[in-house]
Amino acid sequence: MAIEILSPRLANQIAAGEVVERPASVVKELVENAIDAGATQILIEIEQGGAKLISIRDNGCGVVKEQLGLALSRHATSKISTLDDLEAIDSLGFRGEALASISSVCRLTFTSKTKEQPEAWQAYAQGRDMAVEIIPASHPQGTTVAVADMFFNTPARRRFLRTEKTEFTHIDELVKRFSLSHFNIAFTLKHNGKILRNLAIATTTPQQERRVSSLCGKGFIDHAVAINSDHNDIQISGWLVLPQGCKSYNDNQYCYVNGRMMRDKLINHAIRQAYQDWLPEGVVPSYIIYIEIAPSQVDVNVHPAKHEVRFHQARLVHDLIYQVLNSGLMQSLTAADLPANVVAPTAVPAAAEHGYGRPDTEYHPGTVASPNAGHYESRQSAAGGGHQSGANLDVAAKTYQSLITTPHFTNTYDGAATKSMNASEGATSQLFGQLVSLIDDRYLLIKRDSCIELLSLELLAVLVNELELSNRWAQGFIAQPLLLPIAISVDGTLIDQLTTHERLFRRLGIEISVRSPKIIVKQLPAFLREQDIANVIPQLLQLLASQSQLSDSDNALQQVICHWLAQFVVVDYSMTSAVELVAKAENYSEQLVEKFEMLVKPVDFTAAISGFKPQ
Ligand code: ADP
Ligand code: MG
Repeated sequence: MAIEILSPRLANQIAAGEVVERPASVVKELVENAIDAGATQILIEIEQGGAKLISIRDNGCGVVKEQLGLALSRHATSKISTLDDLEAIDSLGFRGEALASISSVCRLTFTSKTKEQPEAWQAYAQGRDMAVEIIPASHPQGTTVAVADMFFNTPARRRFLRTEKTEFTHIDELVKRFSLSHFNIAFTLKHNGKILRNLAIATTTPQQERRVSSLCGKGFIDHAVAINSDHNDIQISGWLVLPQGCKSYNDNQYCYVNGRMMRDKLINHAIRQAYQDWLPEGVVPSYIIYIEIAPSQVDVNVHPAKHEVRFHQARLVHDLIYQVLNSGLMQSLTAADLPANVVAPTAVPAAAEHGYGRPDTEYHPGTVASPNAGHYESRQSAAGGGHQSGANLDVAAKTYQSLITTPHFTNTYDGAATKSMNASEGATSQLFGQLVSLIDDRYLLIKRDSCIELLSLELLAVLVNELELSNRWAQGFIAQPLLLPIAISVDGTLIDQLTTHERLFRRLGIEISVRSPKIIVKQLPAFLREQDIANVIPQLLQLLASQSQLSDSDNALQQVICHWLAQFVVVDYSMTSAVELVAKAENYSEQLVEKFEMLVKPVDFTAAISGFKPQ
């Protein structure tokens, strides 16, 4: 088949596959648009579960006549214009494809009037090219979008629609979600001409609780505690149902990030963990949680329907949610309140005790950015490691200056060399010679005895890490409590390792308790905290089980463990960190000399040069 550009309608229909799944998805897009338009009243009228008609009227800002055509075009949005805007997105929509997609598979009319415009206009798109027709109309300020005959031109998709009742249930659920997160908007929902929900604007707490009660049931609010916290510029508020009020089925579980409904794994995990200790087996939490965080700290553009997010500081957000919820529950539950089968957990220490600000005496292997220090930084700043940037070179140069005056380094460059090289090339190591430049963020080009060679920073980091771990072994490692204990299922023989190697675990700063068949990891040394604990700990137990001939006091076991732990080095090389690593390596020159073959490979410049043939 010859290659052809898709017609606008076909392109929109394909895009509609993602956005328009069923009537409720259309309602979602249209209500989001009304909210983005600043509406304070939204009327949603549905006929026959939405398959026949969906009409959403709002009193928002409207669209001027000249822009109506654009509103219905694909990739047309008033909400972002640059990639930077996407970083700071505060509207619900931004892809600019909802209206175009919907009008390619339904009959859509968009009627709107702005405040300044004396009359209203109606737009609709038709034909293969989706040309937009505009006719005069009558409408108060705001917009009505009417969507009729869903999937009229895509019968295959129409067949996927469920019964009127099912489709309407989805719509009702959606309206409920919007109503729970937008107290400043009055919502009316009609089905086949009957008013089913009519919610006035709720500004005061009692009004809001009344709205929650009418949407989630009286039982919800009767058993709920309100939470409200503001830490690290992240606000968490809402209602948590106390264990007595929770049920065995997913009842009311609503979570919003910046007003957007989320079904996010990370958030759900934190919520479940917070409730875990309080709920008997089989009972699930009920809650409405609002998380407000600077838009630049989340990435909302990860899912077409936008119900997943990516937090730049995922771990911090996770721990914070856990902390706020758990202490919210703890404060409201006195022992007397608890049902017999609910166990009160031991007190959760405050965030400050948990190594967010790590003590400087703490051991951090891995030479480079310490696992903790880097983790809570925003992505922008964490990504600044590129050696190309002038600022970084500056930092690198300063570091060299200070490093070359330390005993580890001898300043051997001569006058001639300085002339041809810039400051960043001045560092020299006894072990590796002149450090010329960083290659591919993982290798260091070095010049030793007039030979040009490549040094693998990764291998060097692992070796240095192993040596540092061994050095520190006698002293032991500082345990840091996890904000969130992690439960892992492991088999019995592995659990036995915990008792066999009790001393070893203490030395490593790892605290684990046993709730067979699970183990609960409670404390870890800083260098393991950012690892995938659920995998690392069973691996460690497995390793110990495979070394059953060795006891904790055997040197050989220490070597095996240090060798294994050394792999958990954080590799993030800038020229500065590479120089730091080399500086650290100087402390272990004796041991490293033996590994030279492995670390350093010659680069054959002579062959390269003789390969150039004059034309
Ligand atoms: P997006 O919401 O991603 O921008 P849409 O296709 O949903 O894309 O809408 C396109 C544009 O139409 C919006 O950016 C907005 O300017 C305008 N628009 C849509 N619905 C409304 C509304 N109810 N009130 C005012 N403007 C609207
Ligand atoms: Mg939209």
